[in-house]
Amino acid sequence: MMSAINLIYLVAAVLFILGLRGLTHPRTAVRGNLLGACGMLLAIVVTLTHHNIVSFEIIIIGILIGAVIGALLATKIEMTSMPELVALFNGFGGIASVLVAGAALIESTIRTSAAVPGNAGIHGPLMQITVATAASGLIGAVTFWGSLVAFGKLKGLISDNAVLFSGQQVLNAILALLALGLGVSVVMDPTNILAYWSLVLVASILGILLTIPVGGADMPVVVALLNSYSGLAAAATGFVLSNNVLIITGSLVGASGLILTQIMCKGMNRSLTNVLFGVLAPAAGSATADEVYTGRVKSALPEEVALLFDAARRVVIVPGYGMAVSQAQQPLANLASVLTERGVEVEYAVHPVAGRMPGHMNVLLAEADVPYEALKDMDDINPYIDQMDVALIIGANDVVNPLARTDPSSPIAGMPIIDVDKAKTVVIIKRSLSPGFAGIPNPLFAADNSLMLFGDGKKMVLDILAALKDT
Ligand code: NDP
Repeated sequence: MMSAINLIYLVAAVLFILGLRGLTHPRTAVRGNLLGACGMLLAIVVTLTHHNIVSFEIIIIGILIGAVIGALLATKIEMTSMPELVALFNGFGGIASVLVAGAALIESTIRTSAAVPGNAGIHGPLMQITVATAASGLIGAVTFWGSLVAFGKLKGLISDNAVLFSGQQVLNAILALLALGLGVSVVMDPTNILAYWSLVLVASILGILLTIPVGGADMPVVVALLNSYSGLAAAATGFVLSNNVLIITGSLVGASGLILTQIMCKGMNRSLTNVLFGVLAPAAGSATADEVYTGRVKSALPEEVALLFDAARRVVIVPGYGMAVSQAQQPLANLASVLTERGVEVEYAVHPVAGRMPGHMNVLLAEADVPYEALKDMDDINPYIDQMDVALIIGANDVVNPLARTDPSSPIAGMPIIDVDKAKTVVIIKRSLSPGFAGIPNPLFAADNSLMLFGDGKKMVLDILAALKDT
């Protein structure tokens, strides 16, 4: 029986891995998602047939409540709010690990003391299980509370400013040591249930303190990191329950969350330490917005931009956070179709950290049925971007800021950017000259070959489309 179950778990694990592989490319993402979901269904069904400690009525009620909440959240959530939903899911994963590990500890302690009254110490539950229990409690509680703080900051329920105070790192180090000490006492004496819940309490405070110093805009990186933690907590719980599929999925989530965190940090050219403990601010002595813009910015009307497109042969579109905010993806795709019908070659340049979460732009453009072949990664398009007649920037700012190349004291120094300033003409759609996420001015807006089209992203694209139809 056990080997049949493990064999099916193995099939589920293979489906998860194939699913993850599918998710690496927009073309195969839907199939990947489906494969992963099939793997999960298989794992759930097999687990239910194996463990029947809890009655099926309760399990079915739980599944129904969870499914209704999940379906409602998934259909109602705005794409721009996705990081906070993921934060909440990570938190639920973390607290589930804490509770399951705690329950397993209580259950095994009761069982051992019933078998050998007065002797349930280190000889009770296996050492490896108690180590895993302590790890579940520690990582799960950090994940739960850290995720709640991340959710609160992203949702605006609590201030998204970085909360810093003197001695913060020392306090964190003391709490981490205390949590480790309590973890050791759980391992040494698994009947000490109080030590387990004290460990959970200390880890909860640590989870809050580790997340409050991070500013709201850096939260997506922390959410990816917490996602990784939730996977590690689940893997530890897998050891507690001797459940292979939980160990495998937990490890997959742990590893993919870490890889994602690394991709995001690399895309911003910042270290994880800088994201977690540093504050993103312009360096003293950097040029102010007035110095960069005064007397240099040229603005255009949608009709003038339409004339530019009319004469263009190659166009690159660079979407950013503002495209997501204004929901301009569909009109943008329509604009690209009109241009393509007129013989213009249109490509989209997608920066890895454009928007507020990885793949943000890809998801929105896929939603508008933009052909995958037209989507180009930054590294692929940069070598020939100087051949573009028009670069249309919509709601992107930091990811096209040339200061990343030219000013070593800038907070985005060294961040790889899309070199749109090399195109013949650059048109930038945004509502004002306000800075982007990094809070610094952008000399691109004042460049000789740049034109600003001030207004809401979606409205401006619709206006260009209308003007194009008249030309
Ligand atoms: P930015 O945050 O640099 O700029 C977005 C611009 O959009 C703003 O300057 C704003 O200007 C404009 N905008 C906002 N609303 C609208 C609207 N309705 N219509 C038109 N424009 C609008 O965005 P980027 O995408 O260029 O860069 C992303 C930044 O986020 C990077 O610094 C990245 O490091 C950071 N980041 C990204 C993460 C990710 O995973 N993708 C995670 C964490 C951080 P205005 O107000 O004038 O309209």
